[in-house]
Amino acid sequence: MKVEENTSLAPYTTFKIGGIARYLITVSSVQDVHDAFIFCKQQGISHFILGKGSNTLFDDQGFNGAVILNKLHWMKEDEGMFSVGSGYSFSLLGSQTARRGWTGLEFASGIPGSVGGAVFMNAGANGQETLQTVKEVTFLSEEGESYTFSQDEIPWRYRWTKFHEMQGMIVSVTFQLTPSLEARQKQISLVKYRTETQPYDDASAGCVFRNPEFQSAGKLIEECHLKNTSYGGARVSPLHGNFIVNEQNATAHDVMTLAKYVQDEVHIKTGVHLEMELRHIPYQGNSS
Ligand SMILES: Cc1cc2nc3c(=O)[nH]c(=O)nc-3n(C[C@H](O)[C@H](O)[C@H](O)COP(=O)(O)OP(=O)(O)OC[C@H]3O[C@@H](n4cnc5c(N)ncnc54)[C@H](O)[C@@H]3O)c2cc1C
Repeated sequence: MKVEENTSLAPYTTFKIGGIARYLITVSSVQDVHDAFIFCKQQGISHFILGKGSNTLFDDQGFNGAVILNKLHWMKEDEGMFSVGSGYSFSLLGSQTARRGWTGLEFASGIPGSVGGAVFMNAGANGQETLQTVKEVTFLSEEGESYTFSQDEIPWRYRWTKFHEMQGMIVSVTFQLTPSLEARQKQISLVKYRTETQPYDDASAGCVFRNPEFQSAGKLIEECHLKNTSYGGARVSPLHGNFIVNEQNATAHDVMTLAKYVQDEVHIKTGVHLEMELRHIPYQGNSS
């Protein structure tokens, strides 16, 4: 494992926001992950597992502990069964599987997360969710114990899995896909739709709020005329109401202030309370 001290977190998130991490530990094997947990225990510091940082907003002060950066990048294929290291690009997996004629992960193409982050968040789009095609997940606890869970042993729902309540790291995932002649075409049209409807080239962390049941957070924000509202360097995307973009060196404070304003306005105007999907990581640890 590689340990760096006092490292800026901004380059490791798609928002390009975040202060300094006391330690940044890059892990590229399960042994590294194990060693990183021991290091944190010995130092008496908290840690945060970081995939591609595409759903994460670090504090402007940074993180007073160790950020463990996931570089477990391997992939193996066996007749529709894809086993991958949890640091593997979820988007790449989505396009590779569709190109090879397997259906189930077309929606992943264009989601800029890691496989571990996608499983943790149960990422989804266009009516598909990550956990639907998961066969099994291997998890390393902070104590160094390895557990392999089959899909039916993993409680999951909209943007939530039981890993939110566990201390450790998802290290590998196996997906079971089924053959389809339409997979590649479906994947291409989903990417086209995504790039037409989302500010794909701007710095953001995707949807800021979870969709309330049977409603779209983006539509509610649009109906409240909040698109294009800005605070500091952050702006509600004119293209998609549920995206806040880092337009001009935004700070985490800018993003959170704007998000709170949107949340309050939507509540006042519609009575709906929007919950955050974005994970805001305070300086002292424990996400909100
Ligand atoms: C342009 C854009 C489009 C997006 N579109 C979508 C979309 O369509 N659907 C959707 O659901 N999301 C979308 N997202 C959000 C994001 O890409 C997903 O939530 C993604 O799954 C996060 O993966 P990550 O590796 O970046 O996670 P990170 O941001 O690095 O981490 C997110 C959370 O997962 C935890 N975590 C990450 N890896 C692990 C691991 N190996 N073990 C344990 N915990 C872990 C972290 O500790 C953190 O709490 C989008 C984001 C962007 C920027």
